Amino acid sequence: MESLKQILAKYNLSLKKAFGQNFLSDEELLKDIVEKAGVTKDDIVMEIGCGAGALTRHLASKAKKVVGYEIDTRLKPILSDMLAEYNNVEIVFSDVMKVSLEQIEKKLGGEYILVANLPYYITTPIIMRFLENAKNIKGMVIMVQEEVAYRLASKNSTSDYGAITVAINLRGEAEVIINVGREKFTPPPNVDSAVVKITIDKNKFAGVDLKKVREVVRIAFSSRRKMLVNNLMNGYRIDRQKAEQVLIKAGLPLTIRGENLSAEDFVNLSQVINEKD
Ligand code: SAM
Repeated sequence: MESLKQILAKYNLSLKKAFGQNFLSDEELLKDIVEKAGVTKDDIVMEIGCGAGALTRHLASKAKKVVGYEIDTRLKPILSDMLAEYNNVEIVFSDVMKVSLEQIEKKLGGEYILVANLPYYITTPIIMRFLENAKNIKGMVIMVQEEVAYRLASKNSTSDYGAITVAINLRGEAEVIINVGREKFTPPPNVDSAVVKITIDKNKFAGVDLKKVREVVRIAFSSRRKMLVNNLMNGYRIDRQKAEQVLIKAGLPLTIRGENLSAEDFVNLSQVINEKD
């Protein structure tokens, strides 16, 4: 098989930094990602950012069906060559952020796993979008900057913990499964990366109005250094007495900060705030 460098030279393709084009070519690493993602012949996979198709090929060899989204139409000839032997792959040449989730999920046609070596500039919007709005997602296996990976998988009361961690914990849980040094990419980026696996549990907080919980989370992290009581006062336009009553009713100390609360605490707090007096 031709190396990535040979393929890029053959097609005279210069990689675009603006699209986060750092490509993988280490076959062992690619195999490892797909294996740890747990992709089987029954699975539908969505891939964001197919690049030269290195990961797409491995996914296609294990999955029932792969639908990939790639913004850069210059990659069309490379991808059609690289994927010629697979008839279970479809590549959509679009900016994935401009395609509606409804359309994406319709095309996927059932429950799916999102697997992606994400361009770093859209990491957070992609993760939030799928966590908050996707209906049929079973899990995500995503390569992100190492420091972001640890943030996604962090525990409350640590400095890494933030609103995105809570968003994950409201739907499932995250773990860092593979560390990837910058030298594994062509060209090497300025930072190391890691693969995070997010397992979605459909029954987690079933029946809870997650929209309302997300509102509390947003308010709790609106000013990270402030105590929760102050953020509640500003966010809900209530006086200190009322905000303290809410915390007492939720069984939380008056001095607590948003970063100390688990997803369960946020669900409980949201129920207290939104109950009719
Ligand atoms: N999957 C390949 C690999 O592992 O070698 C490429 C990964 S590279 C980090 C990210 C890819 O995402 C690039 O091919 C880039 O063109 C594509 N991309 C960037 N922004 C995108 C967007 N908004 N929608 C779809 N693809 C995008």
